[in-house]
Amino acid sequence: MSLSFDVHPHPSPASAEERAVVLAAPGFGQHFTDHMAVATWTVEGGWSDAKVVPYGVEQFAPASAVFHYAQEVFEGLKAYRHADDSVWLFRPEANAQRMIDSAERLALPPLPVEDFIASIEAVVKADAAWVPTGGGEDSLYIRPFTIAHEDFLGVRAAHTARYYCIASPSGPYFSSGVEPVDFWVSRRFTRAAAGGTGSAKCGGNYAASLAGQEEAYAHGCPQVLFLDAAEFRYVEEFGGMNCFFVTGDGQLHTPALSGSILPGVTRRSILELARDKGLEPVEERIEVDDMLARIRSGEIVEAFACGTAAVVASVRAFKDGDEEYVVGDGTSGPHSMEIRKTLLDIQYGRIEDTHGWMHKV
Ligand code: PMP
Repeated sequence: MSLSFDVHPHPSPASAEERAVVLAAPGFGQHFTDHMAVATWTVEGGWSDAKVVPYGVEQFAPASAVFHYAQEVFEGLKAYRHADDSVWLFRPEANAQRMIDSAERLALPPLPVEDFIASIEAVVKADAAWVPTGGGEDSLYIRPFTIAHEDFLGVRAAHTARYYCIASPSGPYFSSGVEPVDFWVSRRFTRAAAGGTGSAKCGGNYAASLAGQEEAYAHGCPQVLFLDAAEFRYVEEFGGMNCFFVTGDGQLHTPALSGSILPGVTRRSILELARDKGLEPVEERIEVDDMLARIRSGEIVEAFACGTAAVVASVRAFKDGDEEYVVGDGTSGPHSMEIRKTLLDIQYGRIEDTHGWMHKV
């Protein structure tokens, strides 16, 4: 039986003026809407008690399992306002399925696809006024997550869990906007290993990535490129985005899903868009030294990161130790920009959605 997310309205939601101040410059992940969805799971009873309640502080016992063993999974997707004021999600069933896959890997209860989508619809409808207007790149970022919620320190899958869905109006992910950014090649840290949790979207992977991210900042790079954990030899992905390389013939190359790479919805969509255009994008193992040499030789003309938050972000240069490998002429290349525009045009309803990717709320 599907869950019904009944709404308990906020007694004092943000005023129109307060909302307007936030929406004028939302930033990323800093402000939250008035409501959130919650549901409870127990090993005996399954999912129940679904509702939409005022966003606010939750109380957790210090013994709650999530604090100790990081048994947590999450998702990230956006709601876009179209010119006619309607509000749409981009491929939410793909995020729903990925959260099921992540939950299975983390021994958490999977939330059925229809309940995942119903929870998002309920929050977005309750907080429709928080979905930014305008044809820019602002949107409502949606963060569903499931946590172990049992007060127990034994190491085993928790017998109770909580699902939440919160929402945050957001602008561009990078403060530099669409300016190309520098990526640090981490030869010291990896984020995930084969057989581990790399293909799951779980908090632990991000905790493991932060030292690499700090290393990148220390070298003046806003982002980090992670290599495989076995040999430090193959390109895996960026801290929070998948990666693509464009060769001089216009062909797209991306690391094949190795089990330790997050299968991005944006990555998959870009591959499908490329195939529509008759291109044959290549999913392969990419040796980092070979990739850097091809950037130097000019064979690779563009490199970009892709993900829900930043859509497509061009790589200006990779920094590897003292070496800098500037991609192309260091500007955003035409292929990356065209892919970016196509995705945004679909998401904001400016061109026909021939794939049926958009889901009206
Ligand atoms: N890799 C990682 C590690 C990520 O966190 C994300 C963002 N979810 C991605 C790739 C891109 O995934 P998506 O296109 O589904 O946002």
